[in-house]
Amino acid sequence: MSTVAAISTPYGSGGIAVIRVSGEQAIPVVDSLFCGRVSLRDALPNTVHFGRIQRKNELLDEVLCSVFRAPHSFTGEDTVEIACHGSLYIQQEMLHWLIDAGCKAAEPGEFTRRAFLNGRMDLTQAEAVADLIAAQSKAEKDLALSQLRGSVSSELASLRERLLHFTSLVELELDFADHEELEFADRSELTDLACEIERKLSSLLASFRTGNAIRHGIPVAIVGAPNAGKSTLLNTLLGEQRAIVSDIQGTTRDTVEDTLVMEGILFRLIDTAGLRDTDDTLENMGIERSRKAALDAQIVIHLLDATNPKPLTIETNGTVMEVYNKCDLKSPNSNLQSSTSNLQPPLCISAKSGEMESLKRELVRLAQDSMQTSAVMLSNARHYEAVFCAHEAIVRVQEGLTTDLSGELLSLDLQDCLSALGEVTGQITNQDVLSNIFSKFCIGK
Ligand code: GDP
Repeated sequence: MSTVAAISTPYGSGGIAVIRVSGEQAIPVVDSLFCGRVSLRDALPNTVHFGRIQRKNELLDEVLCSVFRAPHSFTGEDTVEIACHGSLYIQQEMLHWLIDAGCKAAEPGEFTRRAFLNGRMDLTQAEAVADLIAAQSKAEKDLALSQLRGSVSSELASLRERLLHFTSLVELELDFADHEELEFADRSELTDLACEIERKLSSLLASFRTGNAIRHGIPVAIVGAPNAGKSTLLNTLLGEQRAIVSDIQGTTRDTVEDTLVMEGILFRLIDTAGLRDTDDTLENMGIERSRKAALDAQIVIHLLDATNPKPLTIETNGTVMEVYNKCDLKSPNSNLQSSTSNLQPPLCISAKSGEMESLKRELVRLAQDSMQTSAVMLSNARHYEAVFCAHEAIVRVQEGLTTDLSGELLSLDLQDCLSALGEVTGQITNQDVLSNIFSKFCIGK
Protein backbone atom coordinates (compact mmCIF):
# COMPACT_ATOMS: atom_id res chain seq x y z
CA MET A 1 0.00 0.00 0.00
CA SER A 2 1.25 3.50 -0.78
CA THR A 3 2.47 5.90 1.89
CA VAL A 4 -0.02 8.69 2.53
CA ALA A 5 0.16 12.08 4.20
CA ALA A 6 -2.43 14.62 5.34
CA ILE A 7 -2.85 17.57 7.66
CA SER A 8 -4.77 16.08 10.60
CA THR A 9 -5.61 19.27 12.51
CA PRO A 10 -8.51 21.49 11.38
CA TYR A 11 -8.02 23.92 8.50
CA GLY A 12 -6.66 27.28 9.61
CA SER A 13 -3.70 28.61 11.52
CA GLY A 14 -3.14 27.73 15.16
CA GLY A 15 -0.45 27.20 17.76
CA ILE A 16 0.61 23.92 16.24
CA ALA A 17 -0.58 21.66 13.45
CA VAL A 18 -0.10 17.93 13.03
CA ILE A 19 0.74 16.27 9.75
CA ARG A 20 0.35 12.55 9.68
CA VAL A 21 2.30 10.22 7.44
CA SER A 22 1.48 6.50 7.28
CA GLY A 23 2.73 3.57 5.22
CA GLU A 24 5.77 1.43 4.56
CA GLN A 25 7.90 4.41 3.54
CA ALA A 26 6.62 6.82 6.19
CA ILE A 27 9.79 6.81 8.30
CA PRO A 28 12.38 7.05 5.43
CA VAL A 29 10.30 9.70 3.62
CA VAL A 30 10.06 11.99 6.66
CA ASP A 31 13.66 11.20 7.56
CA SER A 32 14.79 12.43 4.12
CA LEU A 33 13.53 15.90 5.13
CA PHE A 34 14.36 15.72 8.84
CA CYS A 35 17.52 16.91 10.50
CA GLY A 36 17.82 16.13 14.21
CA ARG A 37 20.11 14.51 16.76
CA VAL A 38 19.12 11.01 15.63
CA SER A 39 17.98 9.72 12.29
CA LEU A 40 14.28 8.77 12.37
CA ARG A 41 15.20 5.46 10.72
CA ASP A 42 17.03 4.52 13.92
CA ALA A 43 14.37 5.92 16.24
CA LEU A 44 12.81 3.56 18.73
CA PRO A 45 9.04 3.02 18.44
CA ASN A 46 6.80 5.50 20.28
CA THR A 47 9.48 8.17 20.64
CA VAL A 48 9.37 11.90 19.92
CA HIS A 49 12.24 13.76 18.22
CA PHE A 50 13.01 17.43 17.92
CA GLY A 51 14.58 18.61 14.68
CA ARG A 52 14.28 20.72 11.53
CA ILE A 53 12.45 20.03 8.32
CA GLN A 54 14.72 21.19 5.53
CA ARG A 55 15.38 20.53 1.90
CA LYS A 56 18.73 21.41 0.30
CA ASN A 57 19.45 24.74 1.99
CA GLU A 58 15.88 25.72 2.66
CA LEU A 59 14.65 25.46 6.25
CA LEU A 60 10.87 25.03 6.54
CA ASP A 61 10.25 24.71 10.28
CA GLU A 62 11.37 23.32 13.60
CA VAL A 63 9.21 20.35 14.49
CA LEU A 64 8.55 17.41 16.79
CA CYS A 65 8.28 14.04 15.06
CA SER A 66 6.52 11.15 16.84
CA VAL A 67 7.55 7.79 15.44
CA PHE A 68 5.32 4.71 15.63
CA ARG A 69 6.26 1.37 14.15
CA ALA A 70 3.93 -1.24 12.64
CA PRO A 71 1.80 -2.82 13.91
CA HIS A 72 1.66 -0.63 17.02
CA SER A 73 0.19 2.50 15.51
CA PHE A 74 -3.32 3.79 14.83
CA THR A 75 -3.22 2.53 11.23
CA GLY A 76 -1.19 -0.58 11.99
CA GLU A 77 1.53 0.78 9.64
CA ASP A 78 4.73 2.72 10.25
CA THR A 79 3.57 6.23 11.07
CA VAL A 80 5.19 9.60 11.74
CA GLU A 81 3.23 12.50 13.16
CA ILE A 82 4.91 15.82 12.55
CA ALA A 83 3.91 18.58 14.96
CA CYS A 84 4.88 21.84 13.28
CA HIS A 85 4.06 25.51 13.85
CA GLY A 86 0.46 26.08 12.87
CA SER A 87 0.93 28.57 10.04
CA LEU A 88 -1.17 27.73 7.00
CA TYR A 89 1.85 28.28 4.78
CA ILE A 90 4.02 25.87 6.77
CA GLN A 91 1.28 23.19 6.85
CA GLN A 92 0.63 23.34 3.11
CA GLU A 93 4.31 23.52 2.24
CA MET A 94 5.11 20.57 4.53
CA LEU A 95 2.45 18.52 2.76
CA HIS A 96 3.86 19.48 -0.66
CA TRP A 97 7.38 18.54 0.41
CA LEU A 98 6.15 15.16 1.65
CA ILE A 99 4.33 14.55 -1.63
CA ASP A 100 7.47 15.54 -3.57
CA ALA A 101 9.37 13.04 -1.42
CA GLY A 102 7.07 10.19 -2.45
CA CYS A 103 3.87 10.34 -0.37
CA LYS A 104 0.35 10.45 -1.75
CA ALA A 105 -2.27 12.84 -0.38
CA ALA A 106 -4.59 10.84 1.88
CA GLU A 107 -8.27 10.47 0.99
CA PRO A 108 -10.97 11.34 3.57
CA GLY A 109 -10.86 8.77 6.38
CA GLU A 110 -7.90 6.99 4.82
CA PHE A 111 -6.00 6.53 8.09
CA THR A 112 -9.03 4.96 9.75
CA ARG A 113 -9.74 2.88 6.65
CA ARG A 114 -6.21 1.52 6.84
CA ALA A 115 -6.67 0.81 10.54
CA PHE A 116 -9.74 -1.24 9.60
CA LEU A 117 -8.05 -3.03 6.69
CA ASN A 118 -5.05 -3.84 8.86
CA GLY A 119 -7.30 -5.37 11.50
CA ARG A 120 -6.60 -2.66 14.09
CA MET A 121 -10.34 -2.10 14.53
CA ASP A 122 -13.56 -3.40 13.11
CA LEU A 123 -16.08 -1.37 11.18
CA THR A 124 -18.21 -0.30 14.14
CA GLN A 125 -15.07 0.98 15.83
CA ALA A 126 -13.98 2.83 12.68
CA GLU A 127 -17.42 4.45 12.53
CA ALA A 128 -17.13 5.32 16.22
CA VAL A 129 -14.00 7.35 15.39
CA ALA A 130 -16.13 9.56 13.12
CA ASP A 131 -18.82 9.81 15.80
CA LEU A 132 -16.26 10.73 18.42
CA ILE A 133 -14.93 13.56 16.28
CA ALA A 134 -18.48 14.83 15.71
CA ALA A 135 -19.59 14.44 19.36
CA GLN A 136 -21.40 17.52 20.69
CA SER A 137 -22.18 16.37 24.21
CA LYS A 138 -20.70 14.24 26.97
CA ALA A 139 -23.32 11.51 26.46
CA GLU A 140 -22.56 11.40 22.74
CA LYS A 141 -18.83 11.27 23.45
CA ASP A 142 -19.31 8.47 26.00
CA LEU A 143 -21.40 6.48 23.54
CA ALA A 144 -18.81 6.85 20.76
CA LEU A 145 -15.99 5.93 23.14
CA SER A 146 -17.74 2.81 24.35
CA GLN A 147 -18.33 1.82 20.70
CA LEU A 148 -14.70 2.57 19.93
CA ARG A 149 -13.75 0.20 22.70
CA GLY A 150 -15.78 -2.43 20.91
CA SER A 151 -18.95 -2.67 22.99
CA VAL A 152 -21.24 -3.39 20.03
CA SER A 153 -18.76 -5.39 18.01
CA SER A 154 -17.58 -7.71 20.77
CA GLU A 155 -21.16 -8.59 21.64
CA LEU A 156 -22.07 -9.33 18.03
CA ALA A 157 -18.78 -11.00 17.11
CA SER A 158 -19.04 -13.53 19.92
CA LEU A 159 -22.65 -14.40 19.00
CA ARG A 160 -21.63 -14.73 15.38
CA GLU A 161 -18.76 -17.03 16.20
CA ARG A 162 -20.97 -19.39 18.17
CA LEU A 163 -23.57 -19.37 15.41
CA LEU A 164 -20.88 -20.01 12.81
CA HIS A 165 -19.86 -23.15 14.67
CA PHE A 166 -23.40 -24.55 14.50
CA THR A 167 -23.84 -23.48 10.89
CA SER A 168 -20.74 -25.44 9.89
CA LEU A 169 -22.12 -28.49 11.67
CA VAL A 170 -25.50 -28.16 9.90
CA GLU A 171 -23.67 -27.81 6.60
CA LEU A 172 -21.53 -30.82 7.38
CA GLU A 173 -24.74 -32.83 7.75
CA LEU A 174 -25.62 -31.81 4.19
CA ASP A 175 -22.42 -33.46 2.97
CA PHE A 176 -23.68 -36.69 4.47
CA ALA A 177 -27.15 -36.40 2.99
CA ASP A 178 -27.26 -40.16 2.37
CA HIS A 179 -27.13 -40.71 6.11
CA GLU A 180 -30.22 -38.90 7.28
CA GLU A 181 -29.77 -40.16 10.80
CA LEU A 182 -26.55 -38.18 11.20
CA GLU A 183 -27.08 -34.98 13.20
CA PHE A 184 -23.85 -33.17 14.03
CA ALA A 185 -25.51 -29.99 15.23
CA ASP A 186 -27.37 -30.66 18.46
CA ARG A 187 -30.81 -29.18 17.74
CA SER A 188 -31.63 -28.39 21.33
CA GLU A 189 -28.34 -26.51 21.81
CA LEU A 190 -28.96 -24.69 18.55
CA THR A 191 -32.46 -23.78 19.76
CA ASP A 192 -31.01 -22.35 22.98
CA LEU A 193 -28.43 -20.35 21.08
CA ALA A 194 -31.02 -19.03 18.59
CA CYS A 195 -33.16 -17.98 21.54
CA GLU A 196 -30.23 -16.17 23.20
CA ILE A 197 -29.34 -14.44 19.94
CA GLU A 198 -32.94 -13.40 19.34
CA ARG A 199 -33.11 -11.87 22.84
CA LYS A 200 -29.85 -9.98 22.45
CA LEU A 201 -30.74 -8.69 19.00
CA SER A 202 -34.16 -7.57 20.23
CA SER A 203 -32.63 -5.62 23.07
CA LEU A 204 -30.06 -4.06 20.72
CA LEU A 205 -32.85 -3.01 18.37
CA ALA A 206 -34.75 -1.51 21.30
CA SER A 207 -31.64 0.40 22.38
CA PHE A 208 -31.49 2.18 19.02
CA ARG A 209 -34.15 4.69 20.06
CA THR A 210 -31.99 5.80 22.98
CA GLY A 211 -28.69 5.52 21.10
CA ASN A 212 -30.10 7.56 18.26
CA ALA A 213 -31.48 10.10 20.71
CA ILE A 214 -28.06 10.49 22.31
CA ARG A 215 -26.50 11.17 18.93
CA HIS A 216 -29.13 13.50 17.58
CA GLY A 217 -30.59 14.84 20.83
CA ILE A 218 -33.34 13.45 23.06
CA PRO A 219 -36.57 14.68 21.49
CA VAL A 220 -38.59 16.75 23.96
CA ALA A 221 -41.92 18.08 22.68
CA ILE A 222 -43.46 21.07 24.45
CA VAL A 223 -47.19 20.61 24.09
CA GLY A 224 -50.20 22.46 25.48
CA ALA A 225 -53.09 24.79 24.83
CA PRO A 226 -52.44 28.12 23.07
CA ASN A 227 -50.87 30.77 25.33
CA ALA A 228 -49.72 28.26 27.96
CA GLY A 229 -46.24 29.73 27.43
CA LYS A 230 -44.65 27.04 25.22
CA SER A 231 -42.65 29.45 23.07
CA THR A 232 -41.56 31.41 26.13
CA LEU A 233 -40.37 28.16 27.70
CA LEU A 234 -38.38 27.20 24.59
CA ASN A 235 -36.78 30.64 24.43
CA THR A 236 -35.89 30.71 28.11
CA LEU A 237 -34.40 27.22 28.02
CA LEU A 238 -32.33 28.12 24.98
CA GLY A 239 -31.42 31.56 26.26
CA GLU A 240 -32.42 33.17 22.96
CA GLN A 241 -35.53 34.44 21.15
CA ARG A 242 -35.97 31.38 18.96
CA ALA A 243 -39.79 31.23 18.79
CA ILE A 244 -42.26 34.12 18.54
CA VAL A 245 -44.00 34.90 21.83
CA SER A 246 -47.39 36.57 21.66
CA ASP A 247 -50.78 36.75 23.37
CA ILE A 248 -52.46 36.05 20.06
CA GLN A 249 -53.62 32.44 20.00
CA GLY A 250 -52.37 30.34 17.11
CA THR A 251 -49.11 32.28 16.63
CA THR A 252 -46.93 29.13 16.48
CA ARG A 253 -48.09 27.47 13.29
CA ASP A 254 -45.26 25.05 12.77
CA THR A 255 -42.92 23.16 15.06
CA VAL A 256 -39.76 25.07 16.00
CA GLU A 257 -36.73 23.00 16.99
CA ASP A 258 -33.38 23.64 18.57
CA THR A 259 -30.84 21.74 20.62
CA LEU A 260 -29.60 22.34 24.13
CA VAL A 261 -26.95 20.56 26.23
CA MET A 262 -27.75 20.09 29.93
CA GLU A 263 -25.51 18.06 32.24
CA GLY A 264 -23.68 16.72 29.19
CA ILE A 265 -26.86 15.45 27.51
CA LEU A 266 -28.04 16.77 24.16
CA PHE A 267 -31.78 17.57 24.08
CA ARG A 268 -33.76 18.40 20.95
CA LEU A 269 -36.48 20.80 22.10
CA ILE A 270 -39.55 21.06 19.91
CA ASP A 271 -42.01 23.92 20.39
CA THR A 272 -45.36 23.00 18.90
CA ALA A 273 -48.53 24.77 17.79
CA GLY A 274 -51.09 25.11 20.61
CA LEU A 275 -53.66 22.34 20.63
CA ARG A 276 -57.22 23.63 20.24
CA ASP A 277 -60.23 23.23 17.98
CA THR A 278 -60.06 25.64 15.08
CA ASP A 279 -61.37 26.01 11.52
CA ASP A 280 -58.14 27.62 10.32
CA THR A 281 -56.66 25.18 7.79
CA LEU A 282 -53.10 26.35 8.27
CA GLU A 283 -53.37 26.19 12.05
CA ASN A 284 -54.87 22.72 11.81
CA MET A 285 -51.87 21.57 9.79
CA GLY A 286 -49.64 22.90 12.57
CA ILE A 287 -51.76 21.11 15.19
CA GLU A 288 -51.38 17.85 13.26
CA ARG A 289 -47.60 18.31 13.38
CA SER A 290 -47.81 18.98 17.12
CA ARG A 291 -49.60 15.68 17.64
CA LYS A 292 -46.99 13.86 15.56
CA ALA A 293 -44.15 15.53 17.50
CA ALA A 294 -45.75 14.45 20.78
CA LEU A 295 -46.23 10.91 19.52
CA ASP A 296 -42.57 10.53 18.51
CA ALA A 297 -41.01 12.43 21.40
CA GLN A 298 -39.15 10.61 24.14
CA ILE A 299 -40.29 13.22 26.66
CA VAL A 300 -43.41 15.38 26.39
CA ILE A 301 -43.69 18.53 28.49
CA HIS A 302 -47.43 19.00 28.88
CA LEU A 303 -47.51 22.71 29.67
CA LEU A 304 -50.54 24.13 31.49
CA ASP A 305 -51.31 27.73 32.29
CA ALA A 306 -51.47 27.73 36.10
CA THR A 307 -53.99 30.60 36.03
CA ASN A 308 -56.35 28.73 33.74
CA PRO A 309 -55.34 25.06 33.41
CA LYS A 310 -56.96 23.15 30.57
CA PRO A 311 -55.56 19.62 30.65
CA LEU A 312 -55.36 17.84 27.30
CA THR A 313 -55.20 14.20 26.36
CA ILE A 314 -51.83 13.59 24.77
CA GLU A 315 -50.96 10.54 22.75
CA THR A 316 -47.30 9.64 22.93
CA ASN A 317 -44.86 6.75 23.07
CA GLY A 318 -42.71 8.75 25.47
CA THR A 319 -42.99 9.97 29.05
CA VAL A 320 -45.32 12.87 29.84
CA MET A 321 -44.27 15.53 32.37
CA GLU A 322 -47.10 17.70 33.57
CA VAL A 323 -45.80 21.23 34.11
CA TYR A 324 -47.71 24.28 35.37
CA ASN A 325 -46.42 27.53 33.95
CA LYS A 326 -47.00 31.17 34.99
CA CYS A 327 -46.67 30.18 38.64
CA ASP A 328 -45.44 33.74 39.26
CA LEU A 329 -49.12 34.74 38.88
CA LYS A 330 -50.36 32.19 41.42
CA SER A 331 -50.13 32.57 45.18
CA PRO A 332 -47.60 30.08 46.55
CA ASN A 333 -50.23 28.26 48.59
CA SER A 334 -52.71 27.65 45.82
CA ASN A 335 -53.09 23.97 45.23
CA LEU A 336 -52.29 22.70 41.76
CA GLN A 337 -53.47 19.18 41.15
CA SER A 338 -52.13 16.68 38.72
CA SER A 339 -54.71 16.14 35.98
CA THR A 340 -53.95 12.42 35.90
CA SER A 341 -54.16 10.39 39.07
CA ASN A 342 -51.05 8.28 38.58
CA LEU A 343 -48.59 11.12 38.03
CA GLN A 344 -46.18 12.71 40.47
CA PRO A 345 -47.15 16.14 41.83
CA PRO A 346 -46.98 18.57 38.91
CA LEU A 347 -43.97 20.82 38.47
CA CYS A 348 -44.52 24.54 38.83
CA ILE A 349 -42.42 26.97 36.83
CA SER A 350 -42.38 30.46 35.46
CA ALA A 351 -41.00 30.39 31.94
CA LYS A 352 -41.10 34.17 31.79
CA SER A 353 -38.99 34.80 34.89
CA GLY A 354 -36.74 31.78 34.28
CA GLU A 355 -37.88 29.92 37.43
CA MET A 356 -37.55 26.40 36.11
CA GLU A 357 -34.79 24.56 37.95
CA SER A 358 -37.21 21.76 38.90
CA LEU A 359 -38.08 21.22 35.24
CA LYS A 360 -34.44 21.12 34.14
CA ARG A 361 -33.59 18.63 36.90
CA GLU A 362 -36.49 16.40 35.92
CA LEU A 363 -35.55 16.49 32.23
CA VAL A 364 -31.98 15.43 33.04
CA ARG A 365 -33.20 12.70 35.41
CA LEU A 366 -35.58 11.21 32.82
CA ALA A 367 -32.87 11.31 30.15
CA GLN A 368 -30.32 9.65 32.43
CA ASP A 369 -32.83 6.94 33.37
CA SER A 370 -33.44 6.10 29.74
CA MET A 371 -29.70 5.86 29.05
CA GLN A 372 -29.13 3.38 31.83
CA THR A 373 -31.57 0.84 30.48
CA SER A 374 -29.07 -0.74 28.15
CA ALA A 375 -25.33 -1.14 28.52
CA VAL A 376 -24.63 -1.74 24.85
CA MET A 377 -26.44 0.63 22.53
CA LEU A 378 -26.97 0.87 18.81
CA SER A 379 -26.78 4.42 17.57
CA ASN A 380 -25.96 4.00 13.92
CA ALA A 381 -28.66 3.51 11.26
CA ARG A 382 -26.46 1.13 9.24
CA HIS A 383 -25.99 -1.11 12.28
CA TYR A 384 -29.69 -0.95 13.03
CA GLU A 385 -30.56 -2.11 9.53
CA ALA A 386 -28.14 -5.03 9.65
CA VAL A 387 -29.20 -6.07 13.17
CA PHE A 388 -32.81 -5.88 12.00
CA CYS A 389 -32.05 -8.31 9.14
CA ALA A 390 -30.10 -10.59 11.49
CA HIS A 391 -33.07 -10.59 13.85
CA GLU A 392 -35.49 -11.52 11.06
CA ALA A 393 -33.21 -14.36 10.00
CA ILE A 394 -32.80 -15.75 13.53
CA VAL A 395 -36.56 -15.71 14.00
CA ARG A 396 -36.81 -17.78 10.80
CA VAL A 397 -34.17 -20.15 12.23
CA GLN A 398 -36.23 -20.50 15.40
CA GLU A 399 -39.35 -21.24 13.37
CA GLY A 400 -37.40 -23.71 11.23
CA LEU A 401 -36.20 -25.53 14.30
CA THR A 402 -39.71 -25.93 15.69
CA THR A 403 -41.12 -27.12 12.36
CA ASP A 404 -38.22 -29.49 11.66
CA LEU A 405 -37.21 -27.60 8.54
CA SER A 406 -34.74 -29.40 6.28
CA GLY A 407 -31.03 -28.80 6.95
CA GLU A 408 -30.66 -27.10 3.58
CA LEU A 409 -33.26 -24.42 4.29
CA LEU A 410 -32.13 -24.03 7.88
CA SER A 411 -28.60 -23.40 6.71
CA LEU A 412 -29.82 -20.65 4.35
CA ASP A 413 -31.43 -18.79 7.26
CA LEU A 414 -28.35 -19.33 9.40
CA GLN A 415 -26.18 -17.91 6.61
CA ASP A 416 -28.47 -14.88 6.30
CA CYS A 417 -28.11 -14.22 10.01
CA LEU A 418 -24.33 -14.68 9.91
CA SER A 419 -23.89 -12.36 7.00
CA ALA A 420 -26.08 -9.63 8.53
CA LEU A 421 -24.12 -9.85 11.80
CA GLY A 422 -20.86 -9.80 9.83
CA GLU A 423 -21.95 -6.67 8.00
CA VAL A 424 -22.12 -4.72 11.24
CA THR A 425 -18.57 -5.49 12.29
CA GLY A 426 -17.19 -5.50 8.76
CA GLN A 427 -16.30 -9.21 8.72
CA ILE A 428 -18.44 -9.29 5.59
CA THR A 429 -18.36 -6.16 3.54
CA ASN A 430 -18.05 -4.71 0.07
CA GLN A 431 -16.16 -1.79 -1.38
CA ASP A 432 -19.26 0.37 -1.84
CA VAL A 433 -20.18 0.14 1.82
CA LEU A 434 -16.60 0.93 2.84
CA SER A 435 -16.32 3.88 0.46
CA ASN A 436 -19.63 5.23 1.68
CA ILE A 437 -18.58 5.00 5.33
CA PHE A 438 -15.13 6.51 4.92
CA SER A 439 -16.18 9.27 2.53
CA LYS A 440 -18.00 10.85 5.49
CA PHE A 441 -14.74 11.25 7.38
CA CYS A 442 -12.59 14.32 7.23
CA ILE A 443 -9.20 14.27 5.53
CA GLY A 444 -6.46 13.49 8.01
CA LYS A 445 -8.48 11.06 10.10
P1 GDP B 1 -47.63 29.70 23.58
O1 GDP B 1 -48.78 30.08 22.74
O2 GDP B 1 -47.94 28.54 24.46
O3 GDP B 1 -46.35 29.50 22.81
O4 GDP B 1 -47.40 30.92 24.61
P2 GDP B 1 -46.35 32.12 24.52
O5 GDP B 1 -45.00 31.64 24.92
O6 GDP B 1 -46.49 32.83 23.22
O7 GDP B 1 -46.89 33.01 25.72
C1 GDP B 1 -48.21 33.52 25.73
C2 GDP B 1 -48.24 34.69 26.72
O8 GDP B 1 -47.98 34.24 28.05
C3 GDP B 1 -47.17 35.76 26.43
O9 GDP B 1 -47.72 37.03 26.66
C4 GDP B 1 -46.09 35.46 27.45
O10 GDP B 1 -45.33 36.60 27.80
C5 GDP B 1 -46.92 34.97 28.62
N1 GDP B 1 -46.15 34.07 29.49
C6 GDP B 1 -45.47 32.96 29.13
N2 GDP B 1 -44.90 32.37 30.19
C7 GDP B 1 -45.21 33.14 31.28
C8 GDP B 1 -44.90 33.05 32.68
O11 GDP B 1 -44.20 32.17 33.17
N3 GDP B 1 -45.45 34.03 33.48
C9 GDP B 1 -46.21 35.02 32.99
N4 GDP B 1 -46.67 35.91 33.84
N5 GDP B 1 -46.50 35.12 31.68
C10 GDP B 1 -46.02 34.22 30.83
